[in-house]
Amino acid sequence: MGIDIGGTNVKFAWIDSRGRMIHKATMRTQAEAGPEDAFGRIAKTVRRVMGKDAPAGVGIGCAGLIDREERRLVVSPNLPAWSGARIGRISERALGVYTILENDANAAAYGEFSVGAGRGAKTFVVVTLGTGVGGSIIHEGTIFRGARNYAGEIGHVTINERGPLCKCGNRGCLEAYLGADALVKVAKHRVKSTRSVLGRLAAEHGSLTPRLIGQAARRGDRIARSVLEDAADHLGTALANVVNLINPDRIAIAGGVAPAIGLVLPRVRAVVVERAFTKSALCAKIERGRLGSGAAALGAAWIARQGAVSPRRGRRSD
Ligand SMILES: [Zn+2]
Repeated sequence: MGIDIGGTNVKFAWIDSRGRMIHKATMRTQAEAGPEDAFGRIAKTVRRVMGKDAPAGVGIGCAGLIDREERRLVVSPNLPAWSGARIGRISERALGVYTILENDANAAAYGEFSVGAGRGAKTFVVVTLGTGVGGSIIHEGTIFRGARNYAGEIGHVTINERGPLCKCGNRGCLEAYLGADALVKVAKHRVKSTRSVLGRLAAEHGSLTPRLIGQAARRGDRIARSVLEDAADHLGTALANVVNLINPDRIAIAGGVAPAIGLVLPRVRAVVVERAFTKSALCAKIERGRLGSGAAALGAAWIARQGAVSPRRGRRSD
């Protein structure tokens, strides 16, 4: 069983021993009530679906910085009331099953690798475009973590050393250009009147979102198109760095902003070919993620499935 814990929703995915999805569910996180409260409700959902059966293993993907050894959420901007919580242990008490805790971007990447856009890839990179820009690298079936588990932060690769200030404190990070807020800010700056499709949508909805920018671009709006083309140039520049550094054979663009960026994917590919070493660029197939918003729950289930056959199984609870 896989569980994806986000600031707003908890998503569940059940897979069988062969990895086929057999059931899914969603509930509200109500994060402010804390993890013990949430796991009380999670256990109820699990009982409702499984009856008296217990899952063979539980994997959790959680937004934030994870201490994997202690199975603890160190800090999370989306789950402030959960900071420091030993999620693995809380889950085990509530569900009675050993639980593996993983970062949600890694879980989503593992899902895409197992049954989505990364199937069969040797070196697979996932870029998650949402409020923030996340990333994950899977090499030969294993999540690449770096020395202290901080690898994969493509959102904070510098693409302009004098660029805008990023939330992380650095200047010119990819996220400072491609985070949902940054895209909306650029679009608002360029929309001068309600004569354009984007201007009308902004007036209708009272504000702008990446989804509306995508919608306007699809209807041929020039301003929306220009915002996405600039975004494609920034993403392509960052990916050219990734391509030269690690030579991936597959790159997937996932997350809530991916449908909008998907409209300019040919331009992203062209920028990568233009900037990176040609052979390395041509080796890297760049496409949209295939699992949508269910990727992290499904990936967490696959991580649990992997854990259930590894020696960690039966490890005494801490
Ligand atoms: Zn940054």
